[in-house]
Amino acid sequence: MKPTTARQSDQPLSTAEIIAVGTELLTPFRSDTNSLFLTAGLNELGIVVRRKSIVGDRVDDLAAAVQSALGRVELLVICGGLGPTEDDLTRETVARVLDRPLSENPAIVARLQARFARRGWTMPANNRRQARVPAGAVALDNPRGTAPGLWMEHLGRVIVLLPGPPRELEPMFTGLVQGRLAAQATSRRLYRRVLRVAGRGESHVEERAQPVYERWRRAEPGVETTVLASPGLVELHLSTRADSEPAAAAVLDGATGELAETLGDDLFSTDGRSLPEVVGALLARERLRVAVGESCTGGLVMARLVDVPGSSGYVEAGIVAYSNAVKRAVLGVPPGVLEAHGAVSEAVALAMADGARRVGGADLGVGVTGVAGPGGGTDAKPVGTVCIAVAGPGTAEVATTVRLPGDRAMVRGQAARIALDLLRRALLRGCGGT
Ligand code: AMP
Ligand code: MG
Repeated sequence: MKPTTARQSDQPLSTAEIIAVGTELLTPFRSDTNSLFLTAGLNELGIVVRRKSIVGDRVDDLAAAVQSALGRVELLVICGGLGPTEDDLTRETVARVLDRPLSENPAIVARLQARFARRGWTMPANNRRQARVPAGAVALDNPRGTAPGLWMEHLGRVIVLLPGPPRELEPMFTGLVQGRLAAQATSRRLYRRVLRVAGRGESHVEERAQPVYERWRRAEPGVETTVLASPGLVELHLSTRADSEPAAAAVLDGATGELAETLGDDLFSTDGRSLPEVVGALLARERLRVAVGESCTGGLVMARLVDVPGSSGYVEAGIVAYSNAVKRAVLGVPPGVLEAHGAVSEAVALAMADGARRVGGADLGVGVTGVAGPGGGTDAKPVGTVCIAVAGPGTAEVATTVRLPGDRAMVRGQAARIALDLLRRALLRGCGGT
């Protein structure tokens, strides 16, 4: 339904919908990423996205989508379909829905012609379409492309049209749209915090955290919590509305503190840092250096460690010892241990961790050995069995065996994550021995 009542001018913009236009977005080959970018930008302004849709390059579908969205929300952002070709229909369709005549804007024509002239070309006739502006609309300059954006207001609703290519849309939104929206949005912005938990499943985390976040949901101001799980990692996304950053921080600190208490050492990050960043910070703080001996992960643990800038301050060496021969010859795993326990065993993981530590001249060693699959599993050690160990100076050492689900990539990825988490927990316990 087209809106029949106007939004009052003193009512802040608080709800939005996004429509992504483009037939290619309805194929398996392209996905709509603009709406993710736009949602982040709108949330910063305290504007909640209530619905997103994707429509192909069809006038009727787009007209229906625009019309119904305008009946639900105060802000509609439409991206794509502003190009010069036949299938770019957004400008004309929105003008038709709002009953606004289009007229050519000479300043835009001149700008487009100048743009082509700079490259030594004459402007194709098609591009004149991009200079057509619906009555009452404000054109938004596009320094990165030919399609100008459009800003329109209609019965208190705001309708923004943006070009589809992300490299054009993003600077236009940040530079020309966000400020205009801020002037009409609530002063109560949405603030977020992400808590990250390792080594626990979603239901375990939910069971612990739910009573706490339920209480904070009902508090004033309330904190909304969303739980997102991926293999080996659970994230709690906390959000609250506040007038200022300090006011939001006070509320989020309170909720975070209580969640930290109930989640204990499983909670590894409350400030956006990743697991390798947290591990790196602990190593740097303790002035400890680490070396890694890897079999089934083939260097993944090392790769994650050195993803972090500054890792040369605490990473000494990584040795991929895939065959038993290299486990023996390079890492010094005793042949007797390999024979007695098999390559996938805690004893071998420990010997690899210790070997990496010695070979690398590091304080701490990490060892990983397992069956990544799909072949190679046995009844005793099925696919997904991975042994991980951390060795430190003296007798400080720890080893664990896990059974990981999923395909080869998942097993290896999770094994690397668990190895980093085991190292983190060892560091928390003062495993460096200093
Ligand atoms: P258009 O403005 O419709 O001419 O879009 C031009 C190009 O921008 C498309 O071919 C896509 O590659 C890209 N594009 C359009 N819409 C989106 C979207 N929602 N997310 C990401 N890329 C997009
Ligand atoms: Mg298109």
